[in-house]
Amino acid sequence: MNEAGAKSPNVIAAIGLGGNIGNPRRTMARALGLLDARDDIHIRRVSRLYRTPPWGNTDQEWFHNACALVETSLDPHELLKVCLDIERQLDRVRTERWGPRTIDLDVLLHGDFLSDHADLTVPHPRMTERAFVMVPLSDIAPQAVINLQSVADWASEVDSEGIESLSRSGDWWLEEEAR
Ligand code: ADP
Ligand code: MG
Repeated sequence: MNEAGAKSPNVIAAIGLGGNIGNPRRTMARALGLLDARDDIHIRRVSRLYRTPPWGNTDQEWFHNACALVETSLDPHELLKVCLDIERQLDRVRTERWGPRTIDLDVLLHGDFLSDHADLTVPHPRMTERAFVMVPLSDIAPQAVINLQSVADWASEVDSEGIESLSRSGDWWLEEEAR
């Protein structure tokens, strides 16, 4: 709930979550809990949780991925900073290790905002080619348009071989948080 005087949340942003070491379901649930605990970010919809084959460097554990729609008063740069801060906060629980990540939080979309700056590229670069982003995003924002095509259409075009949903609904993070 908003404190009196707080800026009212008014932009819908999409956040992509992923991880492949430790307990990704739990870490992703904690990340969503930390986002939602803020006065300036409200989780509106969460996709099902998916298990996805590693992309790029295939010599690593399978990933867990999900997407969330948030309503926020933060501008895109502020939202990215919050995401990177939460990544750092949750990374602390991990043992020393190179490569795979405990948690990755990406700003996929932020209202109508467009940026191609390396520090903040929105829509997130190559998201339309990645089944591990488009499949969960199509659970919660099938009609959103990216590069002139709907998320549902992108999701149907990408190679989603191997991807499987691990939850029936988007409530998996609330169940995990309550544990
Ligand atoms: P990736 O998400 O591609 O695996 P990293 O999470 O390691 O890579 O990259 C983090 C950097 O990417 C951040 O320092 C950030 O400035 C930059 N970046 C650019 N655009 C975005 C975005 N839309 N969401 C998240 N990080 C972004
Ligand atoms: Mg990232």
